[in-house]
Amino acid sequence: MVFVKKMSLRRVSLWTRDTPFCFNGRRGMKTGRRLFCAAMLWFFSSTLGAGAPQTPTVRVAIVRDVEELTLSVGGTYEIAAVSGEKKLHRGRHLAACKVTATSQGIRIHQTVFETASLRISARKKAAIVLNRRPYRGDIIIRRTPGGLLTAVNVLDIESYVKGVLVREISHKWPIDAIKAQAVATRTYALYQKEICKNRDYDLTADTSSQVYGGFSSEKSKTNRAVNFTAGEALLYRGKVFPAYFHATCGGSTERASELWKIDIEPLAGGRLCSFCTSSPHYYWTASVDFKNIRKKLGRLYTLKGELKNILVAERNPSGRVRSVELKDDQGASMVVSAKDFRQAQGPDVVRSANFTIAVEGPKVIFAGKGWGHGVGLCQWGAFGMSRKGYSYREILEFYYPGASIEKIY
Ligand SMILES: [Zn+2]
Repeated sequence: MVFVKKMSLRRVSLWTRDTPFCFNGRRGMKTGRRLFCAAMLWFFSSTLGAGAPQTPTVRVAIVRDVEELTLSVGGTYEIAAVSGEKKLHRGRHLAACKVTATSQGIRIHQTVFETASLRISARKKAAIVLNRRPYRGDIIIRRTPGGLLTAVNVLDIESYVKGVLVREISHKWPIDAIKAQAVATRTYALYQKEICKNRDYDLTADTSSQVYGGFSSEKSKTNRAVNFTAGEALLYRGKVFPAYFHATCGGSTERASELWKIDIEPLAGGRLCSFCTSSPHYYWTASVDFKNIRKKLGRLYTLKGELKNILVAERNPSGRVRSVELKDDQGASMVVSAKDFRQAQGPDVVRSANFTIAVEGPKVIFAGKGWGHGVGLCQWGAFGMSRKGYSYREILEFYYPGASIEKIY
């Protein structure tokens, strides 16, 4: 089944709505009317347009709790205290130098700034290079109470999404799969921004939120997908939600409430996905010996004897394992949730909770389907759908049922 449906984007800005009203198809307008229209345009753009929502910024923790950073700036820059924004230093070019925490504050090269946090801004885009990686936007460096350093990249969300896409999916994928990922990534970041208002940052740069690589991770094709969908986010009942995504669902998506304290229609799972069968992660096996499993369980393991057997204790409606039963050599047993079990063994070892267990001597063989938690967008499914001609909107509507795609700024 192949179909492509073109939908027009609903634009909310008054500027874009009013522009065609004046000029569309009106060739040969008299100068007076042209001037009138120009004046009206200026009025709308300068009064109503001034109230239009700005592109939000996000704060991404790119380095956490380290003793030392390397910093350079290729152009005019400014260093200010974060509290009060007091300017502390202005320079034209900063050659690569070390940044360390001192008892008085933060040392950059030879200069000690007596403050617990600094904001570095550059005139040119992506001129700030931290640990050899260029970043758009500003960098905030904080001294932690323990005397270590944390660096946070503050940048507009569109640039952030550009720095995420290649790290999450391939830029060689069809453009609609990339656009779908761009909208999901943007929505997830907007949600994190909402809930992290009282923290020092909204997102981390690793897999615990979304993998972000800064300016050097950008590719022209993924940037095009970001620009095309600029400002578009997934909303449910008028609000952004954590638009989770994963590599491969392996046949059906998971209900978010199986893993987290959220239960809304777009994340209710149960989507039968036949689009990710070409994923290299569709089937997987892992062979781990009992001793290793016991060691990785750490404090989760409360049995007195040695681990001797593992069984599936319960499955949820998506077919995934909800909990596993562990048995020791003294006849005692305990139950661990599949979520905790996967986390302990390594989510890259036990790649999904959709597995069967077989015991072969000292080894346990896990044979499963899919990679990741299975909630929300299936990335390889998006790839499969776009190959079949579905648009990014159709992809998002399939994986987040009940959500609407809106241009919110
Ligand atoms: Zn899938």
